[in-house]
Amino acid sequence: MQRRQFLTNAGISAVTSATLVSCQSQDKSSVTANSLPEIKWRMVTSWPKSLDTIFGGAQLVCDRLKEMSGGKFTITPYAAGEIVPGLEVLDTVQNGTVECGHTASYYYIGKNPVLAFATSVPFGLTAEQQNAWLYHGGGLEAMQKVYSEFNIINFPAGNTGAQMGGWFKKEIKSLGDLKGLKMRIPGLGGEVMAKLGVNVQVLPGGEIFLALDRGAIDAAEWVGPYDDEKLGLNKAAQYYYYPGWWEPGPTLDVLVNKSAWEKLPLEYQSMFMAAAKEANVNMLSQYNFLNQQSLATLITGGTKLVVYPQDIITEAQKIATAIYDDNSTKDPNFKAIYEQWKTFKKGIIKWNTINELSYANFMASSS
Ligand code: CA
Repeated sequence: MQRRQFLTNAGISAVTSATLVSCQSQDKSSVTANSLPEIKWRMVTSWPKSLDTIFGGAQLVCDRLKEMSGGKFTITPYAAGEIVPGLEVLDTVQNGTVECGHTASYYYIGKNPVLAFATSVPFGLTAEQQNAWLYHGGGLEAMQKVYSEFNIINFPAGNTGAQMGGWFKKEIKSLGDLKGLKMRIPGLGGEVMAKLGVNVQVLPGGEIFLALDRGAIDAAEWVGPYDDEKLGLNKAAQYYYYPGWWEPGPTLDVLVNKSAWEKLPLEYQSMFMAAAKEANVNMLSQYNFLNQQSLATLITGGTKLVVYPQDIITEAQKIATAIYDDNSTKDPNFKAIYEQWKTFKKGIIKWNTINELSYANFMASSS
């Protein structure tokens, strides 16, 4: 204040004084940047590099950090299998073999079923609703509390948007057609399908095409048009079902070893969180852009789009709710998060029915 007054009194123009202030703050920031340490981390992931969308989320976090830190904080991302298999990301970050990882939290529901909420659950939230719950509705805070038991801190760093409901070699007309059908579907969606009579198979992404093509399985789900076409699933099955009711808006997380996180300068922590948030927004918009193009290509190529029969989807929802209720009875921590999430879901569905759905319905019927 005093210095400002002095400058004004000295008759220096506002433009000049602004220049002085800006030069001074530039000096200050470069001094701070120079004092920041050089840090090199490794990031394991659950993805093959060929899936540029989902692996791209991990890559973006690393690229941005390098840029923001002037090359001082660098993280190298690794594909699934390069350091550890894709489903061992949590363990590897927990034990500190690597400092961080990019994965889907629902791969680890065997360790704690509540981790499913960090990603997506059957009949759960859409991507936008999920972000609202995580960032503002207490969701991320709750999930970080769960992850702290694994000496991990997690940040959302990607979302695929609503997924598709899988590829079927034969048309499924009602609940009865699911009995004994062999389908590749992991997680809670698989648990629900198993209760509907499906013979559930869990295969990594790279093995789905051959199994479906050779008839070792009758159906398979992966992500959506862009990624599914990359795996060639449209060449192995003709019927493409929607909606993917088990994954309406799955979040991918970047997991950081908590001891490593706490040693980071605050500036790097802040850059890390900004990079993760950017990856979260970017992946969703990228999938939405690419999927609508790929779906059109698939349909031109002979893919038949089919909506899930009502009796299947209604029964699946009943079963999913029964699973959540059962988990709540067994585990008070699951119950606490589930109840809070349920209240949030009720409110946001009410609001989104008014603002988003009414508009989407109008636009769909008028075009
Ligand atoms: Ca999926």
